[in-house]
Amino acid sequence: ASEQLATLLARFGLAAATPFSNWIDGYLQEGEGEEITLINPATGEMLIRYRDAGQALVERAAHAAKRGQHQWMALTASERGRRMNAALSGLQGHEEALAQLESIVAGKPIRDCRAEVGKVREMFEYYAGWCDKQHGEVIPVPTSHLNYVRHMPYGVVGQITPWNAPMFTCAWQLAPAIAAGNGVVLKPSELTPFSSVVIAKLLESGGLPQGLINIVNGLGKTTGTALTDHPAIAKLVFVGSPESGRMIAQAGARRLVPSVLELGGKSANIVFSDAKLEDAVAGAQAAIFAAAGQSCVAGSRLLVEHSVFEVVTTRLARAAEQIQVGLPSDEATRMGPLQNRRQFEHVTRMIEAAVAAGARVLTGGKRPAGLPDEAQGYFIEPTVLVDVTPEMDIAQQEVFGPVVVAMAFNDEAHAIRLANETRFGLAGAVWSQDVARAHRVAGQLRAGTVWINSYKAISVMSPFGGFGDSGFGRSSGLDGLREYTVPQSVWVET
Ligand code: NAD
Repeated sequence: ASEQLATLLARFGLAAATPFSNWIDGYLQEGEGEEITLINPATGEMLIRYRDAGQALVERAAHAAKRGQHQWMALTASERGRRMNAALSGLQGHEEALAQLESIVAGKPIRDCRAEVGKVREMFEYYAGWCDKQHGEVIPVPTSHLNYVRHMPYGVVGQITPWNAPMFTCAWQLAPAIAAGNGVVLKPSELTPFSSVVIAKLLESGGLPQGLINIVNGLGKTTGTALTDHPAIAKLVFVGSPESGRMIAQAGARRLVPSVLELGGKSANIVFSDAKLEDAVAGAQAAIFAAAGQSCVAGSRLLVEHSVFEVVTTRLARAAEQIQVGLPSDEATRMGPLQNRRQFEHVTRMIEAAVAAGARVLTGGKRPAGLPDEAQGYFIEPTVLVDVTPEMDIAQQEVFGPVVVAMAFNDEAHAIRLANETRFGLAGAVWSQDVARAHRVAGQLRAGTVWINSYKAISVMSPFGGFGDSGFGRSSGLDGLREYTVPQSVWVET
């Protein structure tokens, strides 16, 4: 895989003494700080080393973004929209290579990575359409003035993303930021640095202004803090853990710069006895085991009405055992490894602690049997835990792995109480054929996204974000666009 990675990096022009890991002002750049080692999540072997960007490169990126933004705003809004659509031509013919690059470094099944490349396109197309539709308003003020409001870009925004869906997250935040008229400096996770660099480079080759989008790679404590503390950055958008999110919000607060935080979750998947159980089980399976549970919206708490608890959990365990776990490069693989050692150790520890606290493993909990010899990386079986009580750590903390806890409830009120007994509030689902009940329960869930008889439907058109420790602000849709603009109120004496 490391040879294949080298070939892919060479294809995109990233091959160098230490690979180019930054895209600044239209050029690939090597980092200047300490060396960072990437491990292949599937094999546990060393993949490649690159250098942390560090402060000086962040400085250059921020200045480039400022210049790029001026050029961008010199265009008409319609022209910006056309350019965003045209930029996608830069991706053409590179989709498969991009998917492979992501699959190797992030350890995600190749078929999932292909789908993610499609999402990049979708996000740019959607927000390209908004460029010339950001109308202002006229306010009928009670004086003789004409008062109108326009939506102005912040200028340069700083974005920080995690390792679980690097390409998706990169496009998810880049597209609205530039559609709103901003320049960007984005720092991906140090564990998945390259795909965002490639995307930015390809989009620029498709016609975006030089320097409009800049990618810097490095650790949170070095390159990340250089970005959050940089005086040119007028807004911070962060996707990651609540722990780091707090630091980002604090960094913003020190400079009085606003932030959007898209953080973790502990989402409740509620199954009533009148649900179509087959659908609910299939939904529960996809909710937690897709992306090996490394998804912020993972349905990690399965709440099932008493009378069907046994049948739902037994069927889910059987379904979990059928999931094809294997190497990310294998077309048949439906679940790959966890992305990194830290995550693997965290998930393993969480399972052990849960069992020590009285939880019972219905299925999973170990390294999967029958993997190919080279699969020495961070694999863990799809895991279903029962005999879990709401106050246990496993029912409260984000595992971010293929581990679901199942708990029984007595009635609607009990289900709602259990679902809301968490510091998170990202997503949740209700499975029931009683339409009135499904809507009633949805309305009482403290969650930014609720699915009814479904799980994980997501679109760039619909607002996404959290309550509580899942963060604040919204991404996607018009709400996501508005996070990247500030209203300016103009008064004209008439
Ligand atoms: P993380 O918080 O460890 O890292 C995220 C990013 O923040 C990385 O780029 C990291 O380098 C950077 N960072 C860390 N400390 C920093 C600091 N002090 N200053 C600046 N940058 C800093 O998260 P992770 O482990 O990469 O990702 C997993 C987490 O992300 C999970 O909690 C998951 O739920 C969450 N997530 C949320 C969403 C969402 O949309 N709500 C989506 C995906 C992942």
